[in-house]
Amino acid sequence: MHYIGIDIGGTSIKCGFVSKEGKIFHRFGFPIDHKENQVDTIKRLANLVLINIKEINKKKEDFAGIGIGCPGSINSITGVCCFSNNLGWLDLPIVEIMEKETHLKCKISNDANVAMLGEASFGAGRNFKNSVLLTLGTGVGGGLFLNGKLYEGNEGKGAELGHVIIEKDGYPCTCGLKGCLETYASVTGLIRMSKEEMNKNKSSLMWDYVNKDINKVDGKTAFECAKKGDGSALKVVNKYEDYLTIGILNYCNIFRPEAIILGGGVSNQKEYLTDALLKKVKAHNYGFKGTPEVKILVSNLGNDAGLLGAAALFM
Ligand SMILES: [Zn+2]
Repeated sequence: MHYIGIDIGGTSIKCGFVSKEGKIFHRFGFPIDHKENQVDTIKRLANLVLINIKEINKKKEDFAGIGIGCPGSINSITGVCCFSNNLGWLDLPIVEIMEKETHLKCKISNDANVAMLGEASFGAGRNFKNSVLLTLGTGVGGGLFLNGKLYEGNEGKGAELGHVIIEKDGYPCTCGLKGCLETYASVTGLIRMSKEEMNKNKSSLMWDYVNKDINKVDGKTAFECAKKGDGSALKVVNKYEDYLTIGILNYCNIFRPEAIILGGGVSNQKEYLTDALLKKVKAHNYGFKGTPEVKILVSNLGNDAGLLGAAALFM
């Protein structure tokens, strides 16, 4: 039996046919046309799936179903994308359209949830029954794999781990709250904190790194300059890690996972980041005295976590 995984992103839709071992043996997809009617985009997707099944001389019956990961507020019970800010989609019945057009079974979940399932099934989390995924990108996404299963919460809308408040009256978040983890632990937060520190210290190496142009600051600026020993950059990185540590300690205490898995742009810092975080988390007894060790790992499926996890919705 094979599986179809679809990863809907902000700019493109990536699809793959996946074996039960988690190998992607055929890939296809298309860029999203934001001017296209939302229903037409899904119909186009359904048609492309059928074309590709034919193209590799398979039959629909060879596939258990179509799993989809989609950004935004997704009701995994009804299969509706209730709202996706990036895509401009509203109340789009994705599962209903896909099933009607393809006559294949279809399931959908939030993009971070399927990435979690991907890591738990085939990636960094495959040896654990309890793990937490944090994606450190433009925002902070989260996924929970608990007691050997993906945890989605009511209507599949749980695990918004980026929007736990870690600072009262803190920095305003895009969600309307203040002081969410996302405002500090995202790339966006890291860039803001880097710029703040640069404005305080005009002789910081970070200025040279961006050729004196503060608009060129990205998620790597502080980390790369910290590695060279720049005091201001070290301050930024330390502050960033402290905020992330608060989030991780909270998740440790609530879920007591075996592992925290980091994905997204900042996770490219690999051991430089995870070693520092582990030291801080360990210094706080993983959140509570007498509790077991928690591993802090980096996602090892990268951009395929979502596609593989979507396929795994049918495994
Ligand atoms: Zn928020």
